[in-house]
Amino acid sequence: MRLIFLGPPGAGKGTQATRIVAKHGIPQLSTGDMLRAAVAAGTPVGLKAKAVMDAGGLVSDEIVIGIVADRIEEADAKKGFILDGFPRTLAQAEALDAMLAEKGLKLDKVLELKVDQSKLVDRIVRRAEEAKAAGQPVRKDDDPEIFKTRLEAYNRDTAIVAPYYDKRGQLTLIDGMQPIDHVTGAIEQALAG
Ligand code: AMP
Repeated sequence: MRLIFLGPPGAGKGTQATRIVAKHGIPQLSTGDMLRAAVAAGTPVGLKAKAVMDAGGLVSDEIVIGIVADRIEEADAKKGFILDGFPRTLAQAEALDAMLAEKGLKLDKVLELKVDQSKLVDRIVRRAEEAKAAGQPVRKDDDPEIFKTRLEAYNRDTAIVAPYYDKRGQLTLIDGMQPIDHVTGAIEQALAG
């Protein structure tokens, strides 16, 4: 099963993808996690991406497409994957199409988590507080000011990705404002249908 989770930052893509991974045994390919790992490891990609990520902007298509192309070649991704945080631009969506077409593969579903954007800052603030309380590192970009820039990037560059899939009849909308378990239930229902 090959899935994409779309939605603005803080919509719950990562949380929901983790749950689906546990149930379906396919890896969660989070470009944000991969980029953070590259930053932590100080790789050339990480060095290029760090400042952009800290400021809440989008890392270049070239870098992100390269990371995904390599990752989907790995053994665990052969039986499927959930893309979380990719594609974030039309160019990324087109590149993904080309990668899959080259392998004779198709996407099964694109799920968009619909949320009320005015509630997202609160969620991000909570995520930062919870991470801190659990002794985990707090993401630098989970800051209310930087979050605004991330949301702007979403509305400017990423919001057009969902209609791209909708035109092909591949998009399913999920109400992401429900309690977490209900969102998971709605996703499972969509996957079964
Ligand atoms: P996320 O964990 O998905 O919120 O991503 C954190 C940050 O990583 C984003 O704010 C971007 O700076 C960068 N990033 C993650 N995925 C992408 C992508 N597909 N395209 C461009 N930048 C990305």
